[in-house]
Amino acid sequence: MTDIDQVEVLVIGSGAGGSVVAHELASRGYQVVVLEEGGAFEFEAYGQPAPEAMRRLYRRRGMTPVMGRVPIGYVEGCCVGGSTEINSGFWHRTPPEALLRWKSRYGLGATEQELAPHFDWAEEMLGVGLSQAPWPPSTRTFDEGARALGLGAFEVPRAAPGCQGTNSCGYGCPTGAKRGMSRSLLPRAVASGARIVSGARVVRLLHARGRVSGALIRARRGGEERLFRIRAEHVFVCCGPTETPSLLLRSGVRYHVGGTLRVHPYLKVAATFSDPMRSETSVLPLLQVREFWPELSLGGSFFGAGQLAMTLSDHFPEGRAALSDAPRMAQYYVGVRGTGRGWVRPTALGDDATLVRYDLSDADLRALSVGLARLSQLLLRAGAEALYPSVWGLGPIRSEEQAARWLTEALPKGALSLVTVHAFSSCPAGDHRALTAADDEGRVWGFENLRLADASVLPDSPGVNPQGTVMALARRTARAFAER
Ligand SMILES: Cc1cc2nc3c(=O)[nH]c(=O)nc-3n(C[C@H](O)[C@H](O)[C@H](O)COP(=O)(O)OP(=O)(O)OC[C@H]3O[C@@H](n4cnc5c(N)ncnc54)[C@H](O)[C@@H]3O)c2cc1C
Repeated sequence: MTDIDQVEVLVIGSGAGGSVVAHELASRGYQVVVLEEGGAFEFEAYGQPAPEAMRRLYRRRGMTPVMGRVPIGYVEGCCVGGSTEINSGFWHRTPPEALLRWKSRYGLGATEQELAPHFDWAEEMLGVGLSQAPWPPSTRTFDEGARALGLGAFEVPRAAPGCQGTNSCGYGCPTGAKRGMSRSLLPRAVASGARIVSGARVVRLLHARGRVSGALIRARRGGEERLFRIRAEHVFVCCGPTETPSLLLRSGVRYHVGGTLRVHPYLKVAATFSDPMRSETSVLPLLQVREFWPELSLGGSFFGAGQLAMTLSDHFPEGRAALSDAPRMAQYYVGVRGTGRGWVRPTALGDDATLVRYDLSDADLRALSVGLARLSQLLLRAGAEALYPSVWGLGPIRSEEQAARWLTEALPKGALSLVTVHAFSSCPAGDHRALTAADDEGRVWGFENLRLADASVLPDSPGVNPQGTVMALARRTARAFAER
């Protein structure tokens, strides 16, 4: 660290947003340094069992609770490449309806036409496309169920060309087929002259009179943890939806920061079929039902012994016996838009940690309930023998009659075990200053040289997997900066 004193562009965070900014600006000749809190890992370290992978690649080893009336389990990446290293690579362009909403309500000027070239570029960089391999049983089965119900189920393109179906997305892709940032944009940024410093957590931004002058960094050097200072002409904060507001608030930057977090809440459903599913050794189910969008989407979940045990734990003690059916099981989800609100705050304990809260809205609960009914119907039509939703005490669903109950009744709030891997909107961007933390170009209100480019700037829930939107908006922000 000590050899870096002054940089032209400091990018904090190396995930979906930070990597795009680093790549774009380094390739235009800027002197770019990327600071990343997490470690940098070679191929051999990827695809290791969950406990090891979570220790290396996840923030707080995968234990970040989202507090609220219904608590939600949340994970995000903390390594070079950020959450793109552990995500499933599902790819969506921003729905036009979301862009229109963001424009009219928040003044975010990004239109479908304007973002199209950014998506084209990102899709080429990441090799986004449909699977070239035959669908695994868990995908085929989902397709059969959707057809039987007359619902359209579409394969979602992924940033994983040549995926070998190792079922390791969540542990870091061991073949390199899934193009996380560490295998795609970051090497290119480095080739253009960017420098990436891993194991360096920014603890404060240094600023005065509307200008950021640099950052205070905690890093381990020579076996010892120390604080360093770095000076910068321009700073892009790309620490993700929880850590960006946390860093800004710790640094005294508060205007509309951290008070509007949104997430996509997910309810898991484990399903037992009569035939082998091979879920542990094949790619997760690739289809989504988007008929009920934007309120609701149905699709397939990552499968591992640990994840299955967690879902079945809501059916203890009967669910324990179902563990032995694992070879005949697959996991699916009900995902909802997330119209509730939350916040992000640094703790006052001086330990640098972040508190996250989200309150499930009544609309979320309603959509989760209807979604459970619809997903259950679909899976039962596909031949499922028993369904285990992650709802404590509900018991397995074995008939469409049992499933239909949730079309009209609300699931018991206090019994839900929800998870999410999609968080955003904690520092919304757009020109309507009364609602946003940063302007249309990602510049933090009141600062001339501080910009945001990550999931925190999405004005509200996109209702689809967000990585594409994060990358397209980050490139738009970087270009606006460069062209200014
Ligand atoms: C398990 C999982 C599965 C997912 N699946 C999908 C999917 O299939 N499709 C999809 O579109 N999206 C998916 N997502 C979401 C997607 O990966 C994120 O929305 C996206 O990566 C967010 O980008 P970001 O730049 O905001 O944050 P991140 O990609 O998380 O990057 C933020 C980086 O900043 C670093 N950082 C934080 N604080 C500091 C600090 N103070 N100093 C230095 N560095 C810091 C972090 O360590 C991290 O590396 C998934 C996410 C997870 C966790």
